[in-house]
Amino acid sequence: MLNSETCSFCGNEVPPPSQHCPHCGRPGRFWNVLDANESSEVAALNRRYQTAKKDALSRNADVALQLFENALVGSKAVISRFQSDVLRLASSTRQLYGTYYQLIEGGLRLPDGDEWDVLRELADTVLFPKYKEEMRFGALSLDGLGLPNYGECSIVLREEMIADRTSVFEENSALFVERHNIKIARKPNLPKGYRATWAERAKLGVAKLYGRIDSATTPDKYSRILLRAGATSESDDFIEVHIFGPMTVLTMEQVIVIAPQASKRTTITRAIKSKLAKHKVQVN
Ligand SMILES: [Zn+2]
Repeated sequence: MLNSETCSFCGNEVPPPSQHCPHCGRPGRFWNVLDANESSEVAALNRRYQTAKKDALSRNADVALQLFENALVGSKAVISRFQSDVLRLASSTRQLYGTYYQLIEGGLRLPDGDEWDVLRELADTVLFPKYKEEMRFGALSLDGLGLPNYGECSIVLREEMIADRTSVFEENSALFVERHNIKIARKPNLPKGYRATWAERAKLGVAKLYGRIDSATTPDKYSRILLRAGATSESDDFIEVHIFGPMTVLTMEQVIVIAPQASKRTTITRAIKSKLAKHKVQVN
């Protein structure tokens, strides 16, 4: 966790959560990416990655693991939402995809009111100190499909619109914080090596998933190895994507709707389709 970042222009220290340098005003700080890029995080991830490679070699699965890693280089960030949310975003380029905290602060929604509330807030506070309000969540996907527990629409984001401001994380961060028994402290004992910049997402994927790749693993299995939707969000298995800052319909590349059978839903799907087409977003 960085305490500050040195401004590349004026050389002074910029503290989080400032996106602009408070001294010279230069913009462009995405704290989740800076945190993932911190040298001790990078070194810890590299160690996990080397362990994964060595293990694969000993099992004669090194070629298979390399092929899996190559595939992960092309993975996409996907956000799952309900059709009503997508319809709102599709209606205008001025509609923003807000975060949970922004919606609560703006008086637009109430906290979920379940046991996840506390865990989620604890995880976000530890992972994104002082900037959790800016974070949007998604999952890493190879086939464009996200996690249906969060909605029937998988929104695939345009890589060039998010690459600079996105980092990835081992798994559902709320569950991670619980499993690792991380508590609020002056220096939270968050283990290192479980987050990566967007450019290094394949490395994190290898470090996490190497045990599921053997010499017989074929490419058609990759998608479900990377992301497996569970019966509930607690049993979803995925690499979490953290995106800093706002999003609109123009951030989207494609929307995949897993259409429910009920026919009343198809009307809303049609409306989404025609609106998204105007913004050159593909619908499947
Ligand atoms: Zn500066």
